[in-house]
Amino acid sequence: MLAPSPAGFRRLWPLLQPHRPRLLAGGFCMVVFVACWPLLASLAGRLIPAIGEGDLPAVLRNIGAALAVFLVQKAAQFGQDTLLAGPALAVSQDLRRQLFARLQRLDFGALEKLSAGDLTYRLTEDADRVGEVIYKTLQDSTPSALQLLAVLGYMLWLDWPLALATLLLAPVVAVLVSLFGARVMGAAERSQKQVSELASLLGEAIGGLPLVRAFAAEPWLQQRFDAEVDLHRRARYRTLRLLALQHPVVGFIEAAGILAVLLIGAARIQSGGLSGAGFSSFVAALLMLIDPIAHLTTNYNEFQQGQASLRRLRAIEAEPVEPPDRPGARPLGQVRGELVLEGVSFAYTPAKPVLHDLSLRIAPGQVVALVGPSGAGKSTLFSLLLRFNTAQRGRVLLDGQDLADLQARQLRRAIALVPQQSRVFSGTIAEAIAFGRPASASQIREAARLANADGFIDALPGGFEARLEEGGSNLSGGQLQRLAIARAVLGNPAVLLLDEATSALDAEAEEAVQRGLEQAMAGRTVLVIAHRLSTVQEADRILLLEAGRIVEEGSHDSLMARGGRYRDLCQRQLIRIEG
Ligand code: ADP
Repeated sequence: MLAPSPAGFRRLWPLLQPHRPRLLAGGFCMVVFVACWPLLASLAGRLIPAIGEGDLPAVLRNIGAALAVFLVQKAAQFGQDTLLAGPALAVSQDLRRQLFARLQRLDFGALEKLSAGDLTYRLTEDADRVGEVIYKTLQDSTPSALQLLAVLGYMLWLDWPLALATLLLAPVVAVLVSLFGARVMGAAERSQKQVSELASLLGEAIGGLPLVRAFAAEPWLQQRFDAEVDLHRRARYRTLRLLALQHPVVGFIEAAGILAVLLIGAARIQSGGLSGAGFSSFVAALLMLIDPIAHLTTNYNEFQQGQASLRRLRAIEAEPVEPPDRPGARPLGQVRGELVLEGVSFAYTPAKPVLHDLSLRIAPGQVVALVGPSGAGKSTLFSLLLRFNTAQRGRVLLDGQDLADLQARQLRRAIALVPQQSRVFSGTIAEAIAFGRPASASQIREAARLANADGFIDALPGGFEARLEEGGSNLSGGQLQRLAIARAVLGNPAVLLLDEATSALDAEAEEAVQRGLEQAMAGRTVLVIAHRLSTVQEADRILLLEAGRIVEEGSHDSLMARGGRYRDLCQRQLIRIEG
């Protein structure tokens, strides 16, 4: 699992910095948008008395002014929303990009622990949610908070004693409402619990019906059931009654609060502290507080969800990345392809060693078949050669140089992998062979020729420019394998690591792949995890690995003659006879 890491939206601030001009322009629109609210409240204060007095010219004048203010306000809102959307989106995309880059550098152990589905969710849904929260914060919460402040300021300016009284009253109303709400919910939950009794009795009764009938106890059970139904009905009724009480009581408390404001307002008008028009403006302003409060509460909930998303995203940063090359790591020159293991021991977890004190030398150009039961450590050996993992003891050498002293990227160009599953990315055939490396069309064609893939590629509509569907679903298994071989030999690697596919192809496809492999292997050091008899027969040397140790070694014939574990494997058909 991913460990939580300190997270907070504040740490995203640097990502917003480059967008300062847009943020400032958006902020300006926001100020205009917010400033319109007190203006509208003040217009309402003039309009309402004018309506009461039947002063049509004043009504028309104020309505015209209000319309103009609304127009400006909505235009400013549009400006604010569009100007702020860009930076908010950019932040979530930057975050996504940063985390994807991090993902590409993650340590293999860490990567394997994470599930693909989970990571996909994080980099899509979670990143989107974070973007939405940033957008909401910029474009909704901030103006709502400003609106709250501006309107409250306006109310204080209009008549501070009334505004203060309202400010004191509002929390009282809020506390009363929430207290009552909590009591009702508590009582409702308690009576709801009784409802489950009915279900448990039913469960018991249905299972026991034959027994009840056998004892002629039906009237007894019916009585019990009726009693339970009655309890159930009463509990439900109590719940409904409590809930029914909630609306009127809450409504009454709120109404009393508003009436109290009206009463204080009337007193203020009486004492000459406030005009009728001012009071109308005050009530209009009061109404303008409802919306931003509602927005801020909803956004707060979303903000908390967003924080959980951000935490999940940030947790990727806590995972270890692949160690960087050692300072002074050497570039590789011309590689001959000699591989040497010197007393190599490796374990993924300390409690479970996987490779034990492995020593061997593979001469340049030698073809070595690795065989052995599943779990013996064959793939682990490959992972050490590619430096996906590092041995805890011993050294792995390529042409006499410790792999740990080489530049990882160069090492991985000198040692190429043909994986068991020929996974390809969507794109053109040429792109799949080049796989991000600079390569000319003729180099790509040559790699394809070596892999015996040029024939089928030329036959495709578009040839090397033909498109591969996702996962290469428009190619056959054998064609995909040959493509994977072409990809491996493109950079002319000195060493080939081959993880032979376990699933059988038909004879013709098998032969085509085989021919590609033979051509690709020529002149290179090859280490092959072998499943086919023909592969092991043709290898210069066979290593039988069991539980992380080389237990037998030699040619196919000598090992068969020895009649040991290797012959066992062949007889149990763990090495396939075909092709
Ligand atoms: P083979 O390729 O011979 O089937 P592996 O090299 O895949 O064997 O596995 C050797 C042992 O290491 C097995 O016991 C396997 O469970 C364990 N193993 C392989 N990969 C990991 C890993 N990433 N984390 C922990 N244990 C692993």
